[in-house]
This record gives sequence, structure tokens and C-alpha cells, in this order.
Amino acid sequence: MEEERYRVLRERMVDQQIRLEVRDARVLAAMRAVPRHRFVPECERAFAYDNRPLPLACGQTISQPLMVALMLEAARLEGPERVLEVGAGSGYQAAVLGRLAARVVAVERLPELAESAAAALRDVGIGNVEVVTGDGSLGWPPGAPYDRILVAAGGHEVPDALVEQLAPGGVLVIPVGGRTEQTLTVVTKGADGSVLVRNHGPCAFVPLIGAAGWPDASV
Ligand code: SAH
Repeated sequence: MEEERYRVLRERMVDQQIRLEVRDARVLAAMRAVPRHRFVPECERAFAYDNRPLPLACGQTISQPLMVALMLEAARLEGPERVLEVGAGSGYQAAVLGRLAARVVAVERLPELAESAAAALRDVGIGNVEVVTGDGSLGWPPGAPYDRILVAAGGHEVPDALVEQLAPGGVLVIPVGGRTEQTLTVVTKGADGSVLVRNHGPCAFVPLIGAAGWPDASV
């Protein structure tokens, strides 16, 4: 399928699946711009703009576009922020973040995914996103503090390290709950360092695996 056809599908995705629930104009514009099909496996490309999660390598999934948009809206990005994404996966959400913020560090625990995410970001010409490999349940201290932290995998609690690495005035968006179903949780840090936790509705992400997440069930 050629690029123009994908562009039409992408416009339709935003108009029909996202625009009614997400009002942030910058989020909508960024999602109209980023070619999601370039981040999904070749055999899934025809479904890149469907309203559902898609399988990635290593048993992981690229989140449903509406869920990406809801997370991004909850993060209230304005442009100058320094952002940490935990769970880079395909690199798609990191690419959208790259258009909404100044600098993005995207950490992924699986080296194979980190490599392909970095390659896809390079291919589509996004230069302000750095993909690193590691356990993002501990954050990524070399880049801290962050104005925003978005976690694309579900933890059983909010990891302390992420709250610590959040700048005053910062926002952390993370699914918290069980291994398969969670609550999208928004943590805001006041200018005085006080922390406020809000519940943003149900969601279902793959587990956050690591020192401050779930144990790896595959070992
Ligand atoms: N934002 C991604 C969604 C990927 S799914 C996208 O747009 O495609 C969640 C990802 O989190 C998976 O790739 C998984 O390997 C990764 N992950 C799980 N636990 C992690 C951890 N502790 N640190 C970094 N990445 C983690």
C-alpha cells in the first residue's frame, strides 16, 4: 500500500476513533502526522490504523491508538518538556512524544525491540528521541529529572524511582493494578514536591517487568 493510502487511513483513525474522546489539538495533530504503519511489523501494516492493539516481536503489543492518545492527553504536554517513556516497544508512542515535547528518552528492556524502535525512529526522521535499553521501572537516572514520565506497561504500584525522577510540576502517567488489567494513574508533583495521585479510568497493558515491577514470568 502506498503512503497516500496510509495517510487517508490515518486521518480516518483520528477522526473516527480518537477525536470524540481526546480534545488536545496538539495530540490530534501529532497523531495525524506520525506514520504508525512504519512502526508495526510488515505483516500487520494493513491493520496499522485499526482501533486495536497490534502484536510486536517478543510477545509484546503496540497499544491501541486511542489509549496512546488518552495517555498523551493526560500528560498535558506543551512543547518544552523533557520526557521519559518507559516501554518503548515499537517506538510509535515515542515518535508521537517527539513531536509534542523537546527531548524524549525511551527505555525498553528487550534489546531486540529497542533496536528496531531506534531504526524506525531514524527512518521516519525523528531526531529528538533517544532509545536506551534497561529496566525502566527504575527510571533512567542519567536523564533525570523529567517533566513528564509515561509508562506503557502496567505495574503493581507506582515505582518510587519514577516519582523521584519527576521534576517539580511534573506529571507521571502509569497503568497500575494487576498483571492484565490496570487503572491509568496520573501522578502530579507540586512545585513544593507534594504528590497527588488521580485515577484516570481502566486500561489493559502488558506487564511492567523489572525490579519495581513484576517478576519475569518467562524465566
Ligand atoms: N509504547 C509502546 C508500547 C509497547 S508495549 C509502543 O508505542 O509501541 C510495552 C513495552 O514495555 C514492551 O515492549 C515491554 O518489553 C516493555 N517493558 C516492560 N517492562 C519494562 C521495563 N521495566 N523497562 C522498560 N521496558 C519495559
